[in-house]
Amino acid sequence: MPRLLEVEAAPPGAFGELEPTAPPLTDAQGRIRLSFSRIDTYRTCPRKFRFRYVDRLPTLPSPHLSFGTSIHGALEAFHDRKLPEQPTEDELLGFLFEAWDTRGFEELPRQEQLAYYRHAQQVLRRYHARPWPADRTTAATEAWFEVPFAYEAVVVGSIDRVDVDADGGLHVVDYKTNRKARSRAEVASSLQLALYALACQHLYGSLPRTVALDFVVPGLTVTVPLDDLDLDAAREAVLVTAAAIRAERFETLPNRLCDWCDHRTVCPAWEGEGDDAFGAAVATAAQLRRRLHREVQQLRELEAGVARIAAERGLDT
Ligand code: SF4
Repeated sequence: MPRLLEVEAAPPGAFGELEPTAPPLTDAQGRIRLSFSRIDTYRTCPRKFRFRYVDRLPTLPSPHLSFGTSIHGALEAFHDRKLPEQPTEDELLGFLFEAWDTRGFEELPRQEQLAYYRHAQQVLRRYHARPWPADRTTAATEAWFEVPFAYEAVVVGSIDRVDVDADGGLHVVDYKTNRKARSRAEVASSLQLALYALACQHLYGSLPRTVALDFVVPGLTVTVPLDDLDLDAAREAVLVTAAAIRAERFETLPNRLCDWCDHRTVCPAWEGEGDDAFGAAVATAAQLRRRLHREVQQLRELEAGVARIAAERGLDT
């Protein structure tokens, strides 16, 4: 069973550590190496794609990413267990403990970190309580794929889960940790799911019967049949994106996500605004204050512990 993870999907890092270098932009055959997230980034803003995958500027971990990584890790372990015995709720929470990715939370006060962890536990308890279709079994989790598109591109990634039904039909499931579920029409137009359907065909020799986004936070799975997907549009999106990257077309497209872009301070669209440098300084100062606060607390706890032990032994500190 394939279990590799796409490197760019796994942000690392203790405080101040940055994401590891992304995989190369082309493979050994000269094909543009894409993933859903790379295509999505290019379509959102080609300049952002360049900053991230050509210039290799680092990105920082975030609570949202680490929360998603942790939930994915726990669910992967949960569905990896072979039937007939499904893991208990306690076991699922144990998987969460093992998979918990602290990197995006390290700058948060302890109470906020705990709130994220408790929220994740609550989400997984609800997940565990769901009724499961009796005629489905898990065929693969984190199914790694590398799908070639002519000599132009190769799309890589991993499908969160592939189920098989009693008739041998395949069903693709991707977990989402957004707070709100998307509509059926949005799911049907998902480029990611269309690419996963093509990947399923490449891996197992047949297209899936259904594809689904499982919004684990609200606890809602939105499933659409294969016929609702536009696979030709997905193939076209891959080839058009690969051609544009090969032609080095990296125009700047300001958009509603610019405020969360890791590269805004170096982006020409925001040059001379001044606010960015100031905003970055304020954010860094806040991070340093939180770190200092945490370390002072640790120091006090340590001093109190040392004093306690010294008193028990009749020693001076
Ligand atoms: S700040 Fe906005 S316009 Fe600039 S690179 Fe990022 S997403 Fe693109």
